[in-house]
Amino acid sequence: MKKSLTKQSIGSKVHFLYIRMITFSDLGLDASILKALSAANYSTPTPIQEQAIPLILSGKDFLGIAQTGTGKTAAFALPLLQKLNEQGVNGNAPKAIILTPTRELAGQIYKNLNLYGKYVEVKCGAIFGGVNERPQIQMLKKGVDILVATPGRFLDLFRQKCFSLKSVRYCVLDEADRMLDMGFLPDIERIVNQMPKERQTLLFSATLPKQIERLAEQFLKNPVKVEVTPPATTSENVEQSLFYVQRSQKQELLKNILKDDTCKRVLVFTKTKFGADRVCKELRKEDIASSSIHGDKSQWEREKALKRFKTGAVRVLVATDVASRGIDVQDITHVINYDLPLEPDGYVHRIGRTGRAGHTGSAFSFCDADEKPLLRNI
Ligand code: AMP
Repeated sequence: MKKSLTKQSIGSKVHFLYIRMITFSDLGLDASILKALSAANYSTPTPIQEQAIPLILSGKDFLGIAQTGTGKTAAFALPLLQKLNEQGVNGNAPKAIILTPTRELAGQIYKNLNLYGKYVEVKCGAIFGGVNERPQIQMLKKGVDILVATPGRFLDLFRQKCFSLKSVRYCVLDEADRMLDMGFLPDIERIVNQMPKERQTLLFSATLPKQIERLAEQFLKNPVKVEVTPPATTSENVEQSLFYVQRSQKQELLKNILKDDTCKRVLVFTKTKFGADRVCKELRKEDIASSSIHGDKSQWEREKALKRFKTGAVRVLVATDVASRGIDVQDITHVINYDLPLEPDGYVHRIGRTGRAGHTGSAFSFCDADEKPLLRNI
């Protein structure tokens, strides 16, 4: 979801001074992992990755409430690969077990481990049902460091003594609520109970029903809990970008963005009426034609402002959420969240005003330190 604006696209000479995007290297990942991420075209961590990676690297147990699509696989796979690589593993017995409900997921995780682990010395393998077990047994004989498994096949091959759990230091329970729905909970308990007690345990689940809470209490030690929601509801026609910016520098950032002449019809959202007027006034000082609409403006003033925006007499309309409800303007090229909306739904509504009717649009969101909790919800 996050993208950095390039220098060309906002045409500014100073913006790097105050835009701070979190990068994968900020999270404590080392060069070999960063190289693989760059080869995979991952430029910015997702919210779950931003939060999980440093915590997992520091050795904490972790409870992540996150669905498929949030980037949760990399959130656990990257720190595991890095830790095992640092420890210098030997590819004999598994050091990390990742349990996941379906063979599709097992295959996906395995594929991602290989993608992220391209430049590290960590052997990964996967075992799952529905296919001949012989090649999997062969693979286990040769040895693995990270073993991805569905619970049924795991128990089959474990009972056949195809591998040992003695060296396990990390355990990941992926999509725990789905494993519960599929009736795997007793298997999971059986499996985790066989692992050494001295280990780091990570649990990911889209929801947190009572049974999963109990599972977490049983197997996780003082876990850090992090919750994220999937960004699936916004239009694909809208390119979304995020800027971490100090409150005092939002106006400057806005001004720089507006220098780009693709910003033809721009709707700016502020939290307050006062804010809307102030932003508008500052833009006018820079000779950027703009109007504001909010609850303190008369009907006549609002209509006039809207008309000027529609006809292109002003390029920028600054609005509060309430005042923006009736706006039906085609061809809005950019929506700028000068202040983040209080509700995640508000974000979807706001940016849905651009990228309509087959057109593409851009949404820029400014996030200052106080707004980070709002961002998390979005
Ligand atoms: P997941 O939620 O782990 O199933 O990941 C969803 C999809 O997002 C997968 O196709 C990943 O390859 C991709 N993905 C995960 N993290 C990132 C990232 N930081 N940047 C770009 N793509 C990512």
